[in-house]
Amino acid sequence: MSVSVLSPVSVDVTLQSLLKPKDGSAPAKGAACNSRLADGPWVFDEMPAGYGPGASENDVIPADTPHQGVLPQEYRTASTEELDLRIRAAKAALGERVVLMGHFYQRDEVIQYADFVGDSFQLAQAAKTRPEAEAIVFCGVHFMAETADMLSGKEQAVILPNLAAGCSMADMADLDSVVECWEQLEDIYGTGPNAEGKVPVIPVTYMNSSAALKGFCGEHGGIVCTSSNAAKVLEWAFERAERVLFFPDQHLGRNTAKKMGVPLAQMPTWNPYKPLGGNTAERLQDAKVLLWHGFCSVHKRFSVGQIEQARREFPGVRVIVHPECPMEVVDAADESGSTDYIVKAIAAAPAGTTFAIGTEVNLVTRLAGQYPQHHIFCLDPVICPCSTMYRIHPGYLAWVLEALEKGVVLNQIKVSEDVAVPARVALERMLALKPAAAAR
Ligand code: SF4
Repeated sequence: MSVSVLSPVSVDVTLQSLLKPKDGSAPAKGAACNSRLADGPWVFDEMPAGYGPGASENDVIPADTPHQGVLPQEYRTASTEELDLRIRAAKAALGERVVLMGHFYQRDEVIQYADFVGDSFQLAQAAKTRPEAEAIVFCGVHFMAETADMLSGKEQAVILPNLAAGCSMADMADLDSVVECWEQLEDIYGTGPNAEGKVPVIPVTYMNSSAALKGFCGEHGGIVCTSSNAAKVLEWAFERAERVLFFPDQHLGRNTAKKMGVPLAQMPTWNPYKPLGGNTAERLQDAKVLLWHGFCSVHKRFSVGQIEQARREFPGVRVIVHPECPMEVVDAADESGSTDYIVKAIAAAPAGTTFAIGTEVNLVTRLAGQYPQHHIFCLDPVICPCSTMYRIHPGYLAWVLEALEKGVVLNQIKVSEDVAVPARVALERMLALKPAAAAR
């Protein structure tokens, strides 16, 4: 985890220059996945139909997804310079009363104000080091703010500057569908332990899931994992169960279990819209890992073709991708690992290394600015940030900080205790594991 510097050319600045050229020339075609990425995200708060421009724009948004109200006009029309002055003034006035968390995938224009920068779990852990802060402003997405709320002090308020900053992957597994799946699995497998004392199935949820699903895992003998410790968590689960139900990200589950030697034939995908998840009872009997049909639309964009292209153009390039990428991409890359792994690999590399990175473009661009001794680029030539991270903008940050200064808590994310208690059980099980080596 680190405190970041603004990269020389942030993704936002690049998008503005490509999509809204100041000289009046036509926007660059094909440079970004949606030309509206150069707009203020508040334009999309008033259109509750989708996740907004970016990688998740074509994903189906659940009806109960939180929506952001109208951001007051003064924050929508303020210049970059004015917002900068207002954010710095509010932060200075609040002092130790507030701590600001910035996820690796967040835009640089927000990250520059963060006290801590890291992945979701690092940030939730970091929040615990600031018990004196009355408020934790979480510049990430909804499930991250929930986790921070569950791991922080009872009196601390966790604030998500834009309520529309959800996560389309997390939204792909809802509690009702998982409960329905679980009941079908109990009908097939029963509930009692086998001769070795192993239960038929254990639920494992990726950190990128709702608090409700973490609670489900806590109540059903299950556990949470991150992309750094997924293998260690699966080992833990296989010591206790014949199989694992892994949600919501099929790719992290498949890539991790495959490296551990689980055959693909024993990893059926569970489609919540089909009876038995689209499987036969026989196939499920033989299963070792049941993979929920979820995915990250940011990481699904990376392809084997992009890796081949990078190798053609830059012989000797080191290709590192995130394990949320599809299996063929992970197999074709030189390495795969969590954001933390990617950051550390770049920091440790000899000067002059060329890296092609398969993860969210804001992190890749920032790393390119922080490590000018290397050549670092995003595998995807089309700029397509995470739709929901994009929803946080300095305008929302100024809005929540200035309200806090006046003693008003806006956009608080609060997990009810009936959910938080079992969810903490699943998180504590993960924390009790020895730290795993970074993936591969
Ligand atoms: S990058 Fe993917 S998993 Fe992460 S918040 Fe965005 S949609 Fe969710």
